[in-house]
Amino acid sequence: MRCLLFVCLFLTSLSSMALDRFQVEGYVLPNGLQLLLKPAEKGHVSIRLVVGIGFDDFTCKDKELPHLLEHLLFSGIDNSGEGGLEQQMQALGGEWNAFTSNTDTTFVIEAPAQNQRKVLDLLLNVLTHTQINQANLDTAKRIVEREDGGHYSHLQRWLDKRDLGHSASNQLAVELGLKCSERPEVDHLTLEQIETIHDNWYASNNMTLIIVGELDKLLPAYLERTFGQLNAVDPTEHPPLPSINAKAEPERTLVRGALGDGAKLHLLFPEPDMGEQHDETWDLVKAYLDWSLYSELRLDKGYSYGPWADREAFGDTGFLSLNADLARDDVDAAVASVRSMLERLRKEGMDPATFARLQQASIAKQAWAVQGNSALADYYWGALNDYEDGRFEDPAKRTRGVSLDLANRAMRQLLAQPGYLRIEEPLVSYDELYEIGLAVVALLALVIFWRWRVHKRRPL
Ligand SMILES: [Zn+2]
Repeated sequence: MRCLLFVCLFLTSLSSMALDRFQVEGYVLPNGLQLLLKPAEKGHVSIRLVVGIGFDDFTCKDKELPHLLEHLLFSGIDNSGEGGLEQQMQALGGEWNAFTSNTDTTFVIEAPAQNQRKVLDLLLNVLTHTQINQANLDTAKRIVEREDGGHYSHLQRWLDKRDLGHSASNQLAVELGLKCSERPEVDHLTLEQIETIHDNWYASNNMTLIIVGELDKLLPAYLERTFGQLNAVDPTEHPPLPSINAKAEPERTLVRGALGDGAKLHLLFPEPDMGEQHDETWDLVKAYLDWSLYSELRLDKGYSYGPWADREAFGDTGFLSLNADLARDDVDAAVASVRSMLERLRKEGMDPATFARLQQASIAKQAWAVQGNSALADYYWGALNDYEDGRFEDPAKRTRGVSLDLANRAMRQLLAQPGYLRIEEPLVSYDELYEIGLAVVALLALVIFWRWRVHKRRPL
């Protein structure tokens, strides 16, 4: 009855909801499935089924389990197998894909509005009728292995152990104990493990279904009749995220490739906790450092064409990084220049006019960055934690709430740390190769001359 009431409310509010993208009709079915329905552009629907299971839920050894299951779920729902399943989706004019991330596994579907219920039927069938058997698991293993860059060779494992196979930020995360040092493997994972996670995590009360676009008038009733029948389980606790538990070198040079004259600079800082306004504060500090880096390395000194600042999280720790593509010969000068720029910022703080301009640009961008059903559905997927009482929080409001004083405090705390410097460069530069070549030629000439002398002296 309660749900019927909701259906009526939902239908009467269709037109008014379309005006405000942060207002989204959301409710929970009796089996715990969270629904978010947003009427938007006509003719099409974007569907996201977010399952609360990701890489973070597994130990280093078993990390690929959720990813394997994700692939397995495309193996087929009847004797026509994988191809038959794909044909059914094609016949409905839709497209689908799935992604496993650290925190969730998400099925992403774009489809014509008139087929939305048939497409949802197919998705439900995938969840409940996929043939989880050894043959399909073996196929999924091969695909996952291929996606991870082919068979994990002894050489690759050795390189990973020596930190040569990771990007600079990943390498630092491994050093600090925030990330697994080796690539996870799939060979040892069993059908039983896959079945267990399918039973324990692919449950209605661990899922959110987001649908954006021209919504079928009967959608709420349909969803209750179909997805409302999925089983709920006692939720499994997510394990705690890894924290920094080891020391890392303050400065390192990482070898990337054999030969070249390029280099990359990365200066990484863990982000101190800024409480309630943590994310929006660091986004603005990042924007400020991005601009400062561009002014310094590109406009003033010309060391780098496109330096950039970035934010990335590993385990429970966020990092803000300054990065630049450089010529190998400029590395020392560029590092000195970045260090003195940061020292200046720490002493003098941000320029108020520049901060105001970047804050305004960030707010303006939020108004136009999310366009169309698909982008809107992705936005809701990424912002699920900010949904409450029928509304997503407006990020512009939060951005506007960051004062210059707060941003300065955050930046000064960040820069009070020495940070971690990582330089990526090839083993040998072209100049060095030329010198090595000259040395080899000289050595060869000496050997030939010596042989010739010895030969000449030998009595006939
Ligand atoms: Zn994959």
